[in-house]
Amino acid sequence: MTAHTFTIGHTTAGPGTIAGGTLVVPAHHDQPGTAIPFTIVHGIEPGPVLLLVAGVHAMEYAPIIALQRLRTAIDPKTLRGTVVMVHVANMPMFFGRRIYYSPVDGQNLNRVFPGKPDGTLSERIADVLTREVISLATHVLDLHGGDGNEWLRPFSYWVTTGDPAVAQAGRAMALAFGLDRIVVDNARPTDPAASMYLSNTAITRGKPAVTTETGGLGQVEEDAVALTERGVAGVMKHLGMRDDGPAPVAKPKWISRDVVLRAGTSGIFYAAVEPEQMVAKGALLGHITDFHGHTIEDFHAPFDGEVMYVIGTPPITKGEPVVMVGCES
Ligand SMILES: [Zn+2]
Repeated sequence: MTAHTFTIGHTTAGPGTIAGGTLVVPAHHDQPGTAIPFTIVHGIEPGPVLLLVAGVHAMEYAPIIALQRLRTAIDPKTLRGTVVMVHVANMPMFFGRRIYYSPVDGQNLNRVFPGKPDGTLSERIADVLTREVISLATHVLDLHGGDGNEWLRPFSYWVTTGDPAVAQAGRAMALAFGLDRIVVDNARPTDPAASMYLSNTAITRGKPAVTTETGGLGQVEEDAVALTERGVAGVMKHLGMRDDGPAPVAKPKWISRDVVLRAGTSGIFYAAVEPEQMVAKGALLGHITDFHGHTIEDFHAPFDGEVMYVIGTPPITKGEPVVMVGCES
């Protein structure tokens, strides 16, 4: 049963109301603190608690803007259950306009879950999200996109590891979200104390979760925002939180094989392909030059597949992802 009221931190929403609040991550030792803005949309009737998180990587803008629309588009008077929105999980990245890593501690927030109360700022953000928000949810959507440098076609990740019932519920959520490519991830940790990813923090605690990817290149594209809103509406319908909503995707491609090629050297990157492009094994995907025009590395498709994302801006640093290719088997 949904409680009569719903509380996060110092913010309480009564039945049939919307409440906004902020979670405070205190400063610690030499590192600053931060604030995490959230909205609670609390229905009158009991139901699931769906957590929507945007801005774990805060230059992934489409989900952030989608949640700004959804915060007023979901009617608490007709909602069954509760929707919790974390508007920007990683505020230092948002105002710093950073990709991949926090400007404060250089860490990737989506690799440090479940976090530590006395750790770096990224670890403390993860800890607050784990304890104060993920703990209250029954279902979780971690809303990502191509980062500020990533040119991406939309897809979801379905995590197969852990409790089979949780995995099956996650599969149904991925279908309900509606994106027509679903990457099958068989390699996530199963230890709740070393969950690494936000979605996996939920999964290892028995809560079905899906990570989604919409938008990219630091843009707010209407199509990507609309896909995100539509996806949330599909999951809400699927979970019985609302009567109306889009149907699940009928025939997605299950991307059961994928590879992310990484740069072996730093330089200027030139993409030779676009997202959604089908490529044959051996096809040129892009190349890196030095600053005197010499090609110093090129990238070829390791198998026949589809380009899921490719770096769309010139800087490339050794070790960074360059291109993701996936296929159905
Ligand atoms: Zn991301």
